[in-house]
Amino acid sequence: MDTLKQINCEVAACRDCILSDTRTNTVPGEGPKDADIMIVGEAPGFNEDREGRPFIGAAGRLLSELLKNAELTRNDVYITNTVKCRPPDNRDPLPFEMDQCKKYLERQIELINPEIIITLGRFSFNRFFPDEAIGDSRGKLRKREDKMFYPMYHPAAALRQGRFRKLIEEDMVNLAAVLKDISISRTLTPSAEESKNAGEQLSMF
Ligand code: URA
Repeated sequence: MDTLKQINCEVAACRDCILSDTRTNTVPGEGPKDADIMIVGEAPGFNEDREGRPFIGAAGRLLSELLKNAELTRNDVYITNTVKCRPPDNRDPLPFEMDQCKKYLERQIELINPEIIITLGRFSFNRFFPDEAIGDSRGKLRKREDKMFYPMYHPAAALRQGRFRKLIEEDMVNLAAVLKDISISRTLTPSAEESKNAGEQLSMF
């Protein structure tokens, strides 16, 4: 029987593309094995490569912050990437690299069987919806086969260009409503509860 542990072991031994020549650690993904929500980013960066964990650098810290807008914490989501090794100098992952790594992502989706997949950035979005523009699809729930998808801009875009932050925040707030609509349960932590209340209080003025 396939397990996440098995996938992680195979990823650790994988030599199917040249990213394995320069990686320090593989970054298979992390989170609850029965998560209803899966987040698929682009590729590990410097910090992720060092630690073997996804989204722990600047973009990851922003992601954790942004998740509060959707009343989510990292404990609610399984987080992974289109490729499990860092591209040198944080360049974009190449089509061949994403194709070679696709088998792991597909098995993770099969095993975890999330209700909804949140794609972050165009590389992740185009894995599932090739040739479509993320700008037209972001923040809109879509269904393909038995899965729901919610495309969003990548948090790194917000770090590079401030105007994206507002859009990602809006999409996260909308995601909270979407999750309620499709009845996905989350752990509403005290901090998420507090920020939600604070938001409600602010909106009264
Ligand atoms: N950006 C990503 O897309 N994934 C990570 O794990 C870190 C940064």
